[in-house]
Amino acid sequence: MKVCFWGVRGSIPSPGPNTVRYGGNTTCIEVRTDDGHLIILDAGTGIFPLSQTLFGEFPLHAHIFNTHPHWDHIQGLPFFIPLFVPNNRATIYGASDPITHNSIDEILSVQLQYRFFPIRECELNAKIDYVSLKEGEKVTLGEVTITPVLLNHPVVNFGYRIDCRGKSMFFTGDYEKPYNIYDPEDDEFDMYQSLLEQNEADFLEQIQGVDVLIADSSYTEAEYPSKKGWGHGTFQSCMKMAEKAQAKRLFLTHHEPTRSDDALEAVFKESLESLTVDVPEIALAREGLSIEW
Ligand SMILES: [Zn+2]
Ligand SMILES: [Zn+2]
Repeated sequence: MKVCFWGVRGSIPSPGPNTVRYGGNTTCIEVRTDDGHLIILDAGTGIFPLSQTLFGEFPLHAHIFNTHPHWDHIQGLPFFIPLFVPNNRATIYGASDPITHNSIDEILSVQLQYRFFPIRECELNAKIDYVSLKEGEKVTLGEVTITPVLLNHPVVNFGYRIDCRGKSMFFTGDYEKPYNIYDPEDDEFDMYQSLLEQNEADFLEQIQGVDVLIADSSYTEAEYPSKKGWGHGTFQSCMKMAEKAQAKRLFLTHHEPTRSDDALEAVFKESLESLTVDVPEIALAREGLSIEW
């Protein structure tokens, strides 16, 4: 299995001299499975530079899995060049919103409204299919199994586990570990706490033992209290998650747009020094970083 990071920034693209080393593009991860499938996790602006490497593979079939439709995870989709070329195929997977009933097949058409984008959806020459996913409903592509796992964020967010030929990885998308909304003095506190613990145990079971875990580590522990409820994790929440899941390698992503490369390395170092976890490898995801195992 091979994973390449094309966008590791959260919220908004952040190019400039201070983000050159880790990159300014928003979330996009290329996955190549050992049986030859091209899977793309999220279509943030990183999908544009990825698309420019794919010309030699036309006609291709890209399987694009969207964790959730916030801008930083979809904004590059209209710029995914294979969509414009006949004989290419793209299958776009994602959740339906249970509140608004908006489904994944609107994800391109909304962005391609003529007042926002100069090319209309009917001018895309590739064959595009949409697949709405439900929690836990596995997708099988040849020898690959992709499992959507519902994770806490202000909108429905699927983390995706990918398994192929005994190798595995999991990407959280945007994820904040749920917290108890009651005060310890409240009658409901204990009941809610046991629900949270069950929820965490179920989640950890689904990602247990993955080779590679890629997780949303937007904030430091010091920043988190003022961002609570915004739907993102911390460096240390990701490290604890990786330890409990017995993940072999952890890559931290969704870097804060205001954080410079130097600041990112400094807070990462601080997090490693202040919390000891049993995870064989912990690293910052970086644009252009490619791992193969
Ligand atoms: Zn995001
Ligand atoms: Zn989000």
